[in-house]
Amino acid sequence: MSKYEVRQVDLWLDQNESEAVQACLERRWLTEGPACKDLTKTLQDYTGCEYVTFAPNGTLGLFLALLALDLPQGAEVLVPSFTFYGSVTPIIFAGLKPVFVDVDPASFSATQENFEQARSDKTAAIMPVHMYGGCSNIEDITNWAKEQNIRVVEDAAQAMGAKFQGKALGSFGDVGVISLFSDKVITAGEGAIVLCRNTELYERVLLTRNQGRRHSGTFQHDALGMNFRITDIQAAVANGQMGKIDAIVSDRHKKWALYSEKLSNIKDLSFMTWIPGCQAVPFRFPVLTQQRQELAAALEKNGVETRRMFMPMHQQPRLRSYAQGNLPVSERLYDTGLCLPIHKNLSVSDVSRVCHAIRSFYGA
Ligand SMILES: *Cc1c(COP(=O)(O)O)cnc(C)c1O
Repeated sequence: MSKYEVRQVDLWLDQNESEAVQACLERRWLTEGPACKDLTKTLQDYTGCEYVTFAPNGTLGLFLALLALDLPQGAEVLVPSFTFYGSVTPIIFAGLKPVFVDVDPASFSATQENFEQARSDKTAAIMPVHMYGGCSNIEDITNWAKEQNIRVVEDAAQAMGAKFQGKALGSFGDVGVISLFSDKVITAGEGAIVLCRNTELYERVLLTRNQGRRHSGTFQHDALGMNFRITDIQAAVANGQMGKIDAIVSDRHKKWALYSEKLSNIKDLSFMTWIPGCQAVPFRFPVLTQQRQELAAALEKNGVETRRMFMPMHQQPRLRSYAQGNLPVSERLYDTGLCLPIHKNLSVSDVSRVCHAIRSFYGA
């Protein structure tokens, strides 16, 4: 159990999930089966993407996407430095070279300009990452990439339910990945949703994830593949969560509005913005402050668990060799960024308590 009264992450589980899992056990079918089929259908409707499949987690989903794209060995993949480690290591394990780009100081996500600046004739793919449930102009980015004959692997790990101009984040790239890890918008404990742009890519992803064949139980393998399948228990949990998705999304918006209202007009506090056209789903409530450490300590004293933002990838011990200079926005976000919790089990009075502690810290 957590030592914090207000936790950074908490799960909303009820009979929705337990009944779905129970049904799996009673069917005595635990590999991909009826629950996966139901989840696929639900997600096709929800995301508007026809080509839906799964991976054991977001990191492996990105790895699967890169393998299925079959890019030339050693080719460059442009990826924001300000992201989670799991965006980058799949690039290296796939035999490709990460090239780090900076991000936009308002949306915290990389823009077309960020990618354009780092582009070279070795660039085979880009990996836009939608940060904290918002995004940059992903439509411009994917249009530009298409013109340049560059592939797009979309890291929508944090962006379940979010859209840009009415289209689901995760469905813009050649392949998009939404994580189902425990701290994400919806969860299966571990897991990921993989969205593909067309039948051809979908077929390649399906072969790569299932040992190079379309159907289990057959032993001729026509392609190289591994096992990126999930269990029907994971899918059952995700089905339970999808039954509550609208409530989850609106709850996050309600708390975002509450934070925004109660934290307004504090001189040393600034926020991320959602660009026009972005229908975000708040993943955390990120704030930027020159007194990050002191504010975190003050909140800790009040029983509130905060998290830092991502340490830039170009500064990570094992990734520094790929760095090509400073990326000031990513560095500044790490220095000044703090995440406040935003989840279903957070009550309105919890949010008030967090905001009250912050206002008294600033004497505001
Ligand atoms: C969580 C996350 C991942 C990795 O997903 P897992 O399911 O935890 O492997 C990748 N990228 C970003 C931006 C994430 O937040």
